[in-house]
Amino acid sequence: MFADALLPTPLTDCADEVFERSGVGLRLKRDDLVHPLVPGNKWRKLAPNLELAVREGHRRLVTFGGAYSTHLRAVALAAGALGLSSVGLVRGEELAGAPRNWSLRAAEEAGMELVFLSRADYREEAGRGAGGGAGEAALRRRWGPCLVLPEGGSNALAAHGARAIVAELEESQGLGERDVICCPVGTGGTLAGIAAALPPGARALGVAVLRGGEGYLEGEVARLHREAYGREFGGWRIDHGHHGGGYGRVPAALEEFAAGFERRHGIALERRYVAKTLAALYDLTAAGAFPPGTRLTAVVTGLPDPA
Ligand SMILES: *Cc1c(COP(=O)(O)O)cnc(C)c1O
Repeated sequence: MFADALLPTPLTDCADEVFERSGVGLRLKRDDLVHPLVPGNKWRKLAPNLELAVREGHRRLVTFGGAYSTHLRAVALAAGALGLSSVGLVRGEELAGAPRNWSLRAAEEAGMELVFLSRADYREEAGRGAGGGAGEAALRRRWGPCLVLPEGGSNALAAHGARAIVAELEESQGLGERDVICCPVGTGGTLAGIAAALPPGARALGVAVLRGGEGYLEGEVARLHREAYGREFGGWRIDHGHHGGGYGRVPAALEEFAAGFERRHGIALERRYVAKTLAALYDLTAAGAFPPGTRLTAVVTGLPDPA
């Protein structure tokens, strides 16, 4: 699980007309290649949590997610690889009797015990998982000694894990005033880690993949900063104009952009997060949002779903 990670992840230039016209550079940080079982930012965020689990002798991981949660699958596969047991609390009791979709099947095949909850129960349990303290104690009473990971996997250790993305960039080609590190924002854990690691002058740009996250997502990043580092950081912002209509929505124009990008660059694009982020960078660059000389680095945070 740790030894077979590809670190540092590859960094490649990505030339395209819109960037050349604007005098802006684009690089791709290929975190989608970081680990064969647990790709992308899920590996970044889980790695320090798994190290803690192993160090403290936990035998079981408990976490939360929806029917197609990448985080749930990642925890199942990582736990399986480390010989730990895992429990996934899944949103939607109606899924219990239904045939498993590919994502839940993969989690189950990796050894995860799935527990299906009504939406109300799920909210309550996931809230316990996010809060630490008494909530976590209640989960341990129910599931035995375990390490609890919040929905989406974004806790203080996850932010520390994402920090390594910036450390790798600094080591390879340095980072300075012209640099903008870009990533999608689901829960904000990845952006929080990146933003906390920025050297002076460099900036981070998150692209919200859900609708109506203004204020809430910024608050989540700031909360993670306080939890992980005891302070807040500047130098970052979240774009709320490129969510494509909401989480999981892939409008025709985005699909067309992603297919064109794949044709030109030969890289398969995950649609819900990565394609939205890249589409935002193309759009913002075309609109003159970045001064000439800017160097954008897009973190490719995951792989496309299997066909
Ligand atoms: C889960 C996921 C994200 C969201 O990351 P957060 O740290 O929750 O903001 C981004 N990209 C991909 C591909 C993901 O699977």
